[in-house]
Amino acid sequence: MAECEHLRVGREFLESVSWPFAFRQEAHDRCYCERCYPPHLRDTMDVANYTYVIPRGWTRFAISVDEGFFNHHDVWDKWLNCYHGTSIENAKSCVEHRHLLLPNDTTMHGKKLEIREGHIKGEHYVFTTPSITYAALDYYAHTYHFQSPYNSQIYTIKVVLQCKQKPDSIIVQPETVDARRQGIKICRYIPNDKLEWKTQHRSTVTIYGLLLEVKQYHVHNHSNSFQYQQIRNTQNVSYESATISQTPSPPPFKTKLLITFKSCSDDIFIGGGISGCVSCLLVFFFLGWLITGSIWVFPAKSKVQYNQYNETNYCQENLYKFTFGLLLAQYSLIGLVICCGGILALLGLCLG
Ligand SMILES: [Zn+2]
Repeated sequence: MAECEHLRVGREFLESVSWPFAFRQEAHDRCYCERCYPPHLRDTMDVANYTYVIPRGWTRFAISVDEGFFNHHDVWDKWLNCYHGTSIENAKSCVEHRHLLLPNDTTMHGKKLEIREGHIKGEHYVFTTPSITYAALDYYAHTYHFQSPYNSQIYTIKVVLQCKQKPDSIIVQPETVDARRQGIKICRYIPNDKLEWKTQHRSTVTIYGLLLEVKQYHVHNHSNSFQYQQIRNTQNVSYESATISQTPSPPPFKTKLLITFKSCSDDIFIGGGISGCVSCLLVFFFLGWLITGSIWVFPAKSKVQYNQYNETNYCQENLYKFTFGLLLAQYSLIGLVICCGGILALLGLCLG
């Protein structure tokens, strides 16, 4: 049987990003695509009494582990399986450091890690999740577009680290992407209120695989077209500047929407109120002026004369005629506005 496309493309992708091959352990690579892991196989497994969701659709590129460490702590049997969605830059840095580093840690290159912009301040934890679906959310796992040198086909590739984690080190908490409020169940197997794990015990999370979700890219796929905005130049990745740990916070779109709504709604309300009052006053003034003018001007039409200055019914001819014409023009304008409004209302009713 020919090699799985996911494995081939994943390998090409890792070569393109100069993945540290010294840490690779190809014998433990495993593909969970539909061909390699057929639908009749199980979706979950119990590992150390926790539900481990099989990463269907993903391909693992195994990372070598510290045998002594794993044997000493009985990691394969006693520690839980979890995921950490990230970027390829951060994944590479994590593998090179052998840890998911915490905010405030200093990398081996001397860079002090900070909480990423837009994330919750003060959350100095390493975050993981037992759900591949949660780890794969765009907010955590970056998406890359990659053109295969083999067939020039373009693929989208997502990145998640596969880890083992010491059970008594984790704090379990609900998802932080606003799914509960919106009534969305993120994972079929893990409830929303148990989707996030966090810990400050750095060495209780150990990486054993890089998972890639490789999909053929189709221009008309709308979900991918959104992610197209997130294209990274995988040929020029700066690993030195990578922030290693991700600290989740409400998704940026939600925060932005809330801020926009809050800050603008007050302005709109105040501005709208003021302009509404001014408009009302202007309309009343205009109507009052029109009615008063009409009472003065129209009845005088039959009595007015333009020659006898000292008579009470004298008016300068041009002035009277202009005022008369102006009043007529204003009534015509009101009639036109009412007609147009009626036509628009009828059109609105007809068009539903
Ligand atoms: Zn496969």
